[in-house]
Amino acid sequence: MFTGYRIHHSTVLGPTKGGIRYHPDVTLNEVRALAMWMTWKCSLVGLPYGGAKGGVTADPKQLSASELEHLTRRYATEISLMMSPEGDIPAPDVGTTPQIMAWIMDTYSMHRGYSTPSVVTGKPVEIGGSYGRVEATGRGVMLAAREAATLLGLSLNGASVVIQGFGNVGSVSGCLLHDLGCRVIAVSDSRGGIFNPKGLDPREALNHKGRTGSVVAFPGADRVSNEELLELPCDILIPSALEGAITGENAPRVKTHLIVEGANGPLTPDADKVLYDRQIPVIPDILANAGGVIVSYFEWVQGLQQFFWSEEEVNAHLERILMPAFHQVWQMADERKVPLRLGALIRAISRVANAIHIRGIYP
Ligand code: NAD
Repeated sequence: MFTGYRIHHSTVLGPTKGGIRYHPDVTLNEVRALAMWMTWKCSLVGLPYGGAKGGVTADPKQLSASELEHLTRRYATEISLMMSPEGDIPAPDVGTTPQIMAWIMDTYSMHRGYSTPSVVTGKPVEIGGSYGRVEATGRGVMLAAREAATLLGLSLNGASVVIQGFGNVGSVSGCLLHDLGCRVIAVSDSRGGIFNPKGLDPREALNHKGRTGSVVAFPGADRVSNEELLELPCDILIPSALEGAITGENAPRVKTHLIVEGANGPLTPDADKVLYDRQIPVIPDILANAGGVIVSYFEWVQGLQQFFWSEEEVNAHLERILMPAFHQVWQMADERKVPLRLGALIRAISRVANAIHIRGIYP
């Protein structure tokens, strides 16, 4: 018996959108908070969506493929009254994959009696997924890091990068920053981290993780704990695992010039205060990791139109949407003399509030 949730936080701007998490620590309150984050994220980057999130309290690593399929189909059946291409469109998050999205799409379609690919995004390309979706969140993190580095006068050539959480988001951002000339010096997953001050090849580390299940014991790197990794001196720190990694306790020991939040909520409010006082800029999650939901939006649009784009088109449209949002947030924070997170929230919440005002109250 497993417990699962699906939360709709806001439907003001359009159908709700948000990922599904499979993790042993999933709770109702976590899913509620993540659903709210999705509302602000979609609003910030101008998508016609409200926020939602789903989760099942389960460890997918302990399940066989057929158990995982069983769990997914039952969960999809339970939430099928809440989701639809017009009403609520789930996507992957921690512990869920394109295959799991395919099972959700298939279960929903079987109930309907016809194929409904646009009910979920992050699907495999073979069944209506979008090129560039798997890489989209990490690509957005890379774009945010690149843009922030330019504004801060930080050269990316040889810049040292530390990544906590070498999953979908962390590994893609690591590979793309490596391609821009950065030195990825440390990465980690739930079993621990690896460190080499001269730089690691993130693609080889990913292959090693694929073979062994973890980055730990990657040849040519020293082992570090996840706690030590967050305190390594570096130019760019990318927490991309789970919430609450950097707190008021360890924030004073963080030694970086820039933090880009790959994960949702990796910094606690106490950590925010410490880092703002220390003048370490933090590119907030709702901006830095919005690439995933932006390309999910493209996947939904392509599915509804039955007209599919090339990967180059997807990546170009992603940059076209993310970059103006980035500069608007930077400008807002600059004008109001507030942290970037507050600048982002002012923009995001204002858009939702304005929409509520214009729509009025029914009846
Ligand atoms: P994932 O499951 O692919 O990867 C998560 C990684 O974090 C895994 O390598 C796991 O081993 C590692 N990890 C877990 N606990 C850890 C710990 N305590 N210390 C270090 N590493 C740990 O998940 P993902 O899709 O990459 O998501 C990561 C974060 O990004 C989450 O906060 C998620 O909400 C957020 N996010 C994901 C997407 C997306 O499109 N996948 C979009 C926006 C935000």
